[in-house]
Amino acid sequence: MSTHVVIVAAGRGSRAGGDLPKQWQILAGKPVLAHTLAAFAGLPVTLVVHPDDMARARALAPEVRLVTGGAQRADSVRAALEALVGSDATRVLIHDGARPLVSRALIDRLIAALDHAPAAAPALPVTDALWRGERDQVTGTQSREGLYRAQTPQAFRLAEILAAHRAHPGGAADDVQVARAAGLDVQIVEGEEDNLKLTFPGDFQRAEAILKGRDVDIRLGNGYDVHAFTEGDHVWLCGVKVPHGRALLGHSDADVGMHALTDAIYGALAAGDIGRHFPPSDPQWKGAASHIFLRHAVELAGDRGYRISNCDVTLVCERPKIGPHAAEMQAALAAIMGLDADRISVKATTSERLGFTGREEGIAALATATLVKA
Ligand code: MG
Repeated sequence: MSTHVVIVAAGRGSRAGGDLPKQWQILAGKPVLAHTLAAFAGLPVTLVVHPDDMARARALAPEVRLVTGGAQRADSVRAALEALVGSDATRVLIHDGARPLVSRALIDRLIAALDHAPAAAPALPVTDALWRGERDQVTGTQSREGLYRAQTPQAFRLAEILAAHRAHPGGAADDVQVARAAGLDVQIVEGEEDNLKLTFPGDFQRAEAILKGRDVDIRLGNGYDVHAFTEGDHVWLCGVKVPHGRALLGHSDADVGMHALTDAIYGALAAGDIGRHFPPSDPQWKGAASHIFLRHAVELAGDRGYRISNCDVTLVCERPKIGPHAAEMQAALAAIMGLDADRISVKATTSERLGFTGREEGIAALATATLVKA
């Protein structure tokens, strides 16, 4: 059994405003139809378009079967169904091109419903009170008992819906009406509030907001750094000068914590590491303060549309003791990064005197950073 999709997009509807029919208008950077086609990715699609839109449709969806629409919606659907005769299609989902937000879950529920029903369609119960009215005056009320708001895709077994369309005199509002006229039982499948039909300009704004909510892009990066001890009387850790009987050896100020954190941000951006942006072979970075590196990583994240949600730095050393300085380190990093201090964690552990940190040959640091598409 093979399920095919018919997307009806031949209308000239202009209530949405603009010069183009609504299915060709831009939604979140792409034509509405591009979103609709993406919702059915993986299923064979027949797209019904107006003759004037053939070239545009071919450019948008070169892989999709195109059919020229008719004068009425039912004519367009019929043309697509006839085009499926002789294919391997046994089931068909008929969908309005102007409903770009249909979910894969709803599509799957409809396909599953056809296992035990000849037809299935999504709908939501009417919850608002209903009135009758004329010229902005309420003239009566209407019971909402048993009323549903119909959506698409509407799902059918191909042979039955094709026969129903061939027999129908025309003028049907949708394919459920055609199916019922032919005596087919239609099962109601729970629809989705987000599966809205773009009709008015405000619908585009609502759809953009829904798409933005779906397009959550969270990135996690980690960083690790080590610097060896050398002679000296202080170390720089997370932007704080900490008195110590030794110093850390390195090209810059050897702030091992800030280096790990900087690499965590670069890592989340898949943008390499400090060495790529500030080559140690370049004399201008010799002795450079590490906040230059961290600031660069933060700005790169911003340039790419991400905000840093939180970061967490762990310093691994026996000494110096970090606890007394941790709050100052958080505040220093917060100032460099332009973040609230409660989004920054600085903590420490010893390595139980094991390994190079245990022998106090150097300090290691680990960091993670979470970036969210702003
Ligand atoms: Mg380093």
